Amino acid sequence: MFSQVPHEPRQGLSSRRRFLKRAVTAGGAALMGAAGLNEVSPVIWREPTELELNHSYWMGSQPPQNPPLSVNLTVDVAVIGGGLTGLSTAYFIRSVSPHKEVVVLEGRGCGNGASGRNGAMVLTMTEDRYLNFSSDPAMDKKIYDLTAQNLQTLSKLSVETGIDCELETKGALQVLLSSQDVREAKDYVQRAQSLGMPVELWDKQKIVDALGTDVYEGGFFDPGGGQVNPMKLVHVFKVAAESAGAKIFENTMVGKIEEGSEHLIYTTAGHTVRAKALVLATNAFTSRLGFFRNAVAPIREYVAMTRRFTDQELIDIGWRLRVPFNDSRTEVFYLGVTQDNRIHIGGGSPGYSFNNGHLDPAAVGSHSARLQRELVRIYPKLSGIGFEATWDGVVDWSLNESPSVGCSGKYRNIFHGLGYSGHGVNLASVFGRIIADLDAGRGDRWKEYPFVNANLDYIPNEPIRWFAVRAGLAWYNLIDS
Ligand SMILES: Cc1cc2nc3c(=O)[nH]c(=O)nc-3n(C[C@H](O)[C@H](O)[C@H](O)COP(=O)(O)OP(=O)(O)OC[C@H]3O[C@@H](n4cnc5c(N)ncnc54)[C@H](O)[C@@H]3O)c2cc1C
Repeated sequence: MFSQVPHEPRQGLSSRRRFLKRAVTAGGAALMGAAGLNEVSPVIWREPTELELNHSYWMGSQPPQNPPLSVNLTVDVAVIGGGLTGLSTAYFIRSVSPHKEVVVLEGRGCGNGASGRNGAMVLTMTEDRYLNFSSDPAMDKKIYDLTAQNLQTLSKLSVETGIDCELETKGALQVLLSSQDVREAKDYVQRAQSLGMPVELWDKQKIVDALGTDVYEGGFFDPGGGQVNPMKLVHVFKVAAESAGAKIFENTMVGKIEEGSEHLIYTTAGHTVRAKALVLATNAFTSRLGFFRNAVAPIREYVAMTRRFTDQELIDIGWRLRVPFNDSRTEVFYLGVTQDNRIHIGGGSPGYSFNNGHLDPAAVGSHSARLQRELVRIYPKLSGIGFEATWDGVVDWSLNESPSVGCSGKYRNIFHGLGYSGHGVNLASVFGRIIADLDAGRGDRWKEYPFVNANLDYIPNEPIRWFAVRAGLAWYNLIDS
């Protein structure tokens, strides 16, 4: 996740983001254009096809895996990717259009991607992105309501499927690191409250009382947010999709797609699926299938989980209000407490692997040490407490950090939901709902929402992407420190 500090008018963060945008686009256009490399780059540098295994703590809750696809199929809708976007889309399409045959093709197990590796925060949004106002405050309020109400959908589905996904809806906090952040948050809260958003500004003492740490100058409380066990949420949507009649094939990697009025989808194991509609729910890996290569960049984030604490230990730590929180840096840190009393921390300096490549194992150790230092800075009592699990995950980062859901292709039969930029745990299933309506021809009710069919800004190909993203991340790092 990147920073969510409120800005009104948008100052520091937006100018930093503009810097990165300029770095990526201007540098990219100039250098690549001069060399003519942009066109040929994807042919010269082919992205790896293999998906990395998920080593997260949440894997302990991964649902039992279904068998791979072993025959050729013809269906109405093929969903590629078994994360929260893909599974929720399958569920909602079957709910809206029960006559349609829907399959989900997942390359590993459901939840192997970001949906089963994240920081567990369930967040609301406004138009621009989480807790930033756009030029259309009424739309901001609408999106806030839409995303806040989605927690009720998650809760309802958890009850209906009988899978407790440990969803807690007590709110989420953004803690503020500087008096400048507090001033900006104050302006934001006033404006948000005048629009009817139930957000609150908390002073330093209230944060100390809630979290047991005095490293923050204040906080911004959003009662619309919450937290979840993300892999159990994947399980909820897997069961919901299957109960609604979708078929899910796991360890079924899609290697190639031939577009058409009826798509021909090839799995790497040699089977085919013919489908009238295709849903790209492949997040940061969509470019590997030849789609959205210049719309999202794969940014790698790291998370770690401590051992289980006793109730008394947690009381001693002082984190009385068990709400998740993230700070106001650009390269944000985020923390939460699981229902069985483990503390997880994620974020800090993200990484970038050339050409959507694989993890550099050496990076894991240094990121883990960075997370440990930050945890002890926040909670000195945790000095000496090691992590039981440390893992990474890839975020589908769009240039202006706003997502897109919609429909494209010559036959208007390719659907997508991506560009969440680290804020997809809640939004993915909102997008699943929107895709189902677009597919059913009843997308009109969503057309005013800015993320519907939003064009994501152009990100150049490698190698300039590597230089530009690394430069931007280094700049973020500098201003944060
Ligand atoms: C470390 C980290 C921390 C985060 N923290 C938060 C947070 O606290 N709050 C929040 O709101 N968001 C957070 N996010 C973002 C959030 O997790 C994502 O936005 C969301 O899970 C996206 O879901 P998805 O289904 O679109 O993608 P994914 O969950 O990545 O699903 C894509 C699936 O497609 C499969 N796939 C890819 N290619 C193929 C192929 N060719 N064939 C078949 N299958 C394929 C993958 O295996 C994967 O399962 C975080 C992300 C990361 C990585």
